[in-house]
Amino acid sequence: MKNMACLFRLFLCLFALVYITTCTSLSAQPSDLPPGQEQKRVPANSFSADLNLTPKERAFLKNHPVIRVGNEDDWPPFDFSIHGRPSGYAIDHLELLGRRLGISFEYVNGYSWFELLNLFREKKIDLLPSLWISEGRKEFMSFTKPYLTLPYVIVVGKDDLSIRGFEDLKGKTVAVAKGYKQEAVLESDYPQINTYVVQNALEGMEAVIYELADAYIGYQGTVAYLMASRFLADLRICGEVKAPELGPQGLYIAVRQDLPLLRSVLQKAMDIVTHKEKVELAQKWITVERIRIPELTSEEKIYLRQNPVLRVDNLKDWPPFNFRKNGKHKGFCIDYIDLLAHKLGIEVEYVSGPSWGGFMDMLQTGEIDCLCDVVKTKHREESMAFTDPYFVIFSGIVVKKGEQIYNKVQELTGKKVAVPKDFYYQEILERNYPGIEVVTKKNTLNCLKAVSSGQVDAALAEKPVFDYLITQHFLTDLTSISLTNSRHFENTPVSIGVDKDRTMLRDILQKAMDAVTEDERSAIYRRWLNTNPPKENTSQINLTLHERQWLEVRNELTMCAHPSSPPFEQLGPNGNYAGIVAEIIGLLEERIGVPVTVLPTKSWSQSLEYLRSGKCDLISCVVKGPKDEPGLAVSQPYLESAVVMVVRSDQPYLPDLHALEGKRVGIVTGNPVVEYIQTRFPKINIQYYPDLDKALKNTAKGESDVALGSLHRVSYTIHDLGLYDLKIAGQTPYKDYLGLGVNSQSTELKSIINKAVESLSAQEVSNITRKWLSIRYDKGFDTLLLLQILAGGGFLLTVFVLWNRKLARLNREIAKAHKSLALKSQELETLSITDRLTGIYNRMKLEEVLANEHIRVQRTGQPFTIILLDVDLFKDVNDTFGHQVGDAVLRELAELLQANIRQTDTVGRWGGEEFMIVCPETDREGGVILAENLRQKTSAGIMAHSKHVTCSFGVAEYSAGEGENLLVARVDKALYKAKNKGRNRVESA
Ligand code: GH3
Ligand code: MG
Ligand code: MG
Repeated sequence: MKNMACLFRLFLCLFALVYITTCTSLSAQPSDLPPGQEQKRVPANSFSADLNLTPKERAFLKNHPVIRVGNEDDWPPFDFSIHGRPSGYAIDHLELLGRRLGISFEYVNGYSWFELLNLFREKKIDLLPSLWISEGRKEFMSFTKPYLTLPYVIVVGKDDLSIRGFEDLKGKTVAVAKGYKQEAVLESDYPQINTYVVQNALEGMEAVIYELADAYIGYQGTVAYLMASRFLADLRICGEVKAPELGPQGLYIAVRQDLPLLRSVLQKAMDIVTHKEKVELAQKWITVERIRIPELTSEEKIYLRQNPVLRVDNLKDWPPFNFRKNGKHKGFCIDYIDLLAHKLGIEVEYVSGPSWGGFMDMLQTGEIDCLCDVVKTKHREESMAFTDPYFVIFSGIVVKKGEQIYNKVQELTGKKVAVPKDFYYQEILERNYPGIEVVTKKNTLNCLKAVSSGQVDAALAEKPVFDYLITQHFLTDLTSISLTNSRHFENTPVSIGVDKDRTMLRDILQKAMDAVTEDERSAIYRRWLNTNPPKENTSQINLTLHERQWLEVRNELTMCAHPSSPPFEQLGPNGNYAGIVAEIIGLLEERIGVPVTVLPTKSWSQSLEYLRSGKCDLISCVVKGPKDEPGLAVSQPYLESAVVMVVRSDQPYLPDLHALEGKRVGIVTGNPVVEYIQTRFPKINIQYYPDLDKALKNTAKGESDVALGSLHRVSYTIHDLGLYDLKIAGQTPYKDYLGLGVNSQSTELKSIINKAVESLSAQEVSNITRKWLSIRYDKGFDTLLLLQILAGGGFLLTVFVLWNRKLARLNREIAKAHKSLALKSQELETLSITDRLTGIYNRMKLEEVLANEHIRVQRTGQPFTIILLDVDLFKDVNDTFGHQVGDAVLRELAELLQANIRQTDTVGRWGGEEFMIVCPETDREGGVILAENLRQKTSAGIMAHSKHVTCSFGVAEYSAGEGENLLVARVDKALYKAKNKGRNRVESA
């Protein structure tokens, strides 16, 4: 265990060391500017020939080999300094110009912006490398042309689909940094937008994470940098600000007005910066996936101006893809088209009513512009042009729960199978599977009902449609199995189709589709299909020819690994490599197709040395810090782990980092969060520890008040060391990102590894994590709860971040989960979330689900309904047959309820013989259907000896504005009514 945190610690120690060395050498220059530090490079004074310099300009360069530059301390990613070392886009850009011109720069830093401006006025510095232009500044500065122009962007929560662009901000709350342009513009020109004023960009973005604001508006470079470096993975850039007053801003170099030649040579050098160099700079400093904008030709732009409204088919009944409900168009395709239209700046008019055939005709006559859900066929290609497919439909078989599962169509031979009439399923079955008895139904829902009633053995159609209908229509006795790529039932790709003569529209739509980001796609997938989008080529990654050749030559990769760092990695006695990281590497190995040999090392520095000298190609597990270490490149992260706050169990909970001010906080030396905490929370008293074991032990002893560490390591270590008097008291906004270390020279390998890492699905990683952590935790306490927390991005974690207000409540749960390890089993039961008798959730858990649902509907405005049921005349059961039989009835009832609700519903035992079901996204009508269904099943299926047991049901839909207590009171009243009206019935409030 001592070695547990070694990897991490040593990496950071070494990192700090290298760091200090660099800075010393940089700052050991003579200076007449006492507080600042300077950096000087050897002047080469040989400039590029293609600059076309005038004789005067050449003379200037010769006489001014060193230019003094004002370097800001804190404006990442553009112009900032790390312990005096100048960094940022503007600095790299300036160095690039310097190399072209054969001059070098002396950086002056350690001054406030105000002081830098004064030094500039006093001619103690010659230029400032990154400024916005203004009339006031023009009076004493001369400017180059802008070298980088970036927009203001809108940042929202990752899964928030309600804001797609600036127009959607009406009535919403937007965080803006005090004193910045955004604040002034929004407050004066956009009174419909509420503002939430923060001190800086980071606070603004955190305000969105904590739901204090719906969005944040900031400068793109800053936003992207903070998202990457501060690990704000729960946010997404949803669009640019379209307000004219907040248009894209250029960055300029400002030069002393008495040095016009300096301005002109810099401008000449800027003019020959290549596109490739600009892209490299942007990739280095502005890394997060950008909002992509379709690049249209001028003809295409004119076309859109002439055709500002796109008419699209809205089908009546093809949920969850394209359908109508309560007079509104809805579905996956609709959201996707809306997104494209937003990217193109056009409106959509959805046409509904006609049948599919009718829509095909309307496309020919030009009454609609496109079909948003059409499968490309040879026949259709004669009259239509298609975009690339944007999703794939696969088939599924539905059977009754508990009956035989079919994975292949052949297995249905001799069975009765329902298919929707005139769909291609019918044709294929009839043609290729004569042994199957085909029963056609009007639509997919009727196919499901036929299975449910026992009229047929199975149904065959699109799986996502089945799943949606099963949920919506409470067909809880059915289950669906996917039929991926079986012969005759290939996965069907779906495209957008336009009339053959309008290929320009097709091209425009295709460009908009190409500009859809992974985040945007995921949000729509999660909303309608309840999954993440499929990764393309999961088992095979898309390598370039060059990369494949590189691998062929190598035919083996060597990877340094820590021999004993559970649960991440460890080497067994017989040399087998195991752990979370080991399994993830195993997956990557498959993708890459080249074996990886593990080389155990004694220390982090040895690993790094091996990597640098080429003795190994990879390092298995590296925590990505805010900056890069020389010689080491870190791949995309394959695992992330939230940084959490740990306190003694008797201490109060910590809502956020502000709560740590004035406290002694133990952190492992070199942990990247130290830097953030020092700058943002200077009042926190940091205590450094060599490793996490020490930090936790000393927190347990009371020598530190709080310890910080990543969730995986903290949880593992607490249990490994038996520090049961510690608890996790809250989560910070920071996360540790684990990736593979690659030699930074090896661009091929880095790209190959990144592609392989990107091909991992969240599901794969989470399965591995669960597996390893459950080995550790399955004895003795509430495994499920902790695993949910540990799943990283699992339900509870999301809740943590999103519903900060509920943090205290959830913390109580976590603390219980942790503490319960040390508790006797009797106490454990009372603390646990499950009911002991029935094994389903208890009242405490139900209350939490209710509270969460309550918060959710405030945001989404969607309905939700609860059902309360009570066993009729249960006293008689006890009195007649005894308590044992009564208990058995309750257990059986719980089982029946659990088996017959939908996946999204939650059932629990509310009290004695009362049960509650919480049904999200369900209205009163839906709740009554479910309750009635359950009532019938109960009265038919549950017996106490020879006597049928019945229940009475109350149903209530949440009504806007009411609290949870009022809702429960209303459902109770409805139940009471059911009892009064004679029992064994459903009543709704
Ligand atoms: P009704 O609700 O239809 O008005 O009649 P009831 O007979 O069910 O009425 P009441 O709510 O007054 O009685 C509930 C009974 O449930 C009383 C209690 O003994 C029994 N009960 C509560 N919890 C348990 C339990 O865990 N096991 C058993 N066997 N009985 C329980
Ligand atoms: Mg009762
Ligand atoms: Mg009762």
